[in-house]
Amino acid sequence: MLMSRKEFIKKTGKGALSAGALTFAGCADSDSIKTSPGGFGLAYKSKRLELKHAWTIARNTSQYKENVFVRLEKDGVFGLGEAAHNVRYGESLESTIETIKLAEPVLKTCNPWHFVDIHLKIKVLCKGQTAAKAALDMAILDWIGKKLGIPLYQFWGLDKQKAPQTTFSIGIDTPEIIRKKIQEAEPYPLLKIKMGKENDKEILETVRSVTDKTLRVDANEGWKDKEMAIRKVEWLAENGVDLVEQPMPAEMLEETAWVRERASIPIIADEAVKSAGDIPVLAQAYDGINIKIDKAGGLQESLRMIWMARSLNMKIMLGCMVASSLSITAAAHLSPAIDYPDLDGHLLISNDPFQGAKVKEGWLVLPDKPGIGVEGEF
Ligand code: MG
Repeated sequence: MLMSRKEFIKKTGKGALSAGALTFAGCADSDSIKTSPGGFGLAYKSKRLELKHAWTIARNTSQYKENVFVRLEKDGVFGLGEAAHNVRYGESLESTIETIKLAEPVLKTCNPWHFVDIHLKIKVLCKGQTAAKAALDMAILDWIGKKLGIPLYQFWGLDKQKAPQTTFSIGIDTPEIIRKKIQEAEPYPLLKIKMGKENDKEILETVRSVTDKTLRVDANEGWKDKEMAIRKVEWLAENGVDLVEQPMPAEMLEETAWVRERASIPIIADEAVKSAGDIPVLAQAYDGINIKIDKAGGLQESLRMIWMARSLNMKIMLGCMVASSLSITAAAHLSPAIDYPDLDGHLLISNDPFQGAKVKEGWLVLPDKPGIGVEGEF
């Protein structure tokens, strides 16, 4: 039964409403999140992350990855971020550092609690350069989480017990090395195999000679003909592959839609999708999207992409670049909201400067410390 305002005041005690003093038990007092005037102090540094094995995909081969690490400090609390630039999107180490420098005046004068505005201000400073923007967004949210004393998954209202099993990626290589990599990936029940060059058949035969685990395949835009692409997809489906990522070049949307109509397993967009605005059109050609914080330009945009894809009934993979535990753990905080985590970039390097999210028998285990919750320094 609904109570009138008068009856409510009578029941709850005179003055509670009239004084405008309704308080909520357990809410943080706003004083506890007050900050001094002025913005962040900024520090950044590039660091070479050594790969355990040379990393080959359909596009290129690398021996190491040089990422840029940022630290934002205010009121004795610091937030950390990492930029893993990608040549596919017109980024380099130099352009990443230039973008961070460009954002410095915004960071030095901002109010950190207005992180939505900060993100938008930095976004329009230059075109693209999403890895640098992602590092700054990550550092700001790390700071916010630390100030509030809660981990980011909690800040977003996510249940960390729902973090799914992650895949472990096997790059393109000789049969001997592929077999070795699969042995090293023994604790991971799901493998993601890179394909898209001329040796797809040899790769699958090699993988299947040593394991019967469920596989996911990433062709990295490697198949340029739709008839060939659907033949490959169906051949993979018959061999225990449960999804195929970016079978055809990103710009071949119609051809990809044709393949998807005929495919018996989901087709996921990666190179074709960067931010939330790309997703509605892609829903015609793909069953899902692969989000990466470096591609999206940060955690805020990644979260927006999750809800956009969900509203279009699409599946969500959460991928990564080759990166340290800092970037991987930041992404892992979003993993309870997605279907297919592919967060293994830190497992591919031999000199990870951070410790954060762990993988136990393939399951992602998120840290409980405030913010991103990593330990270590760069
Ligand atoms: Mg991919």
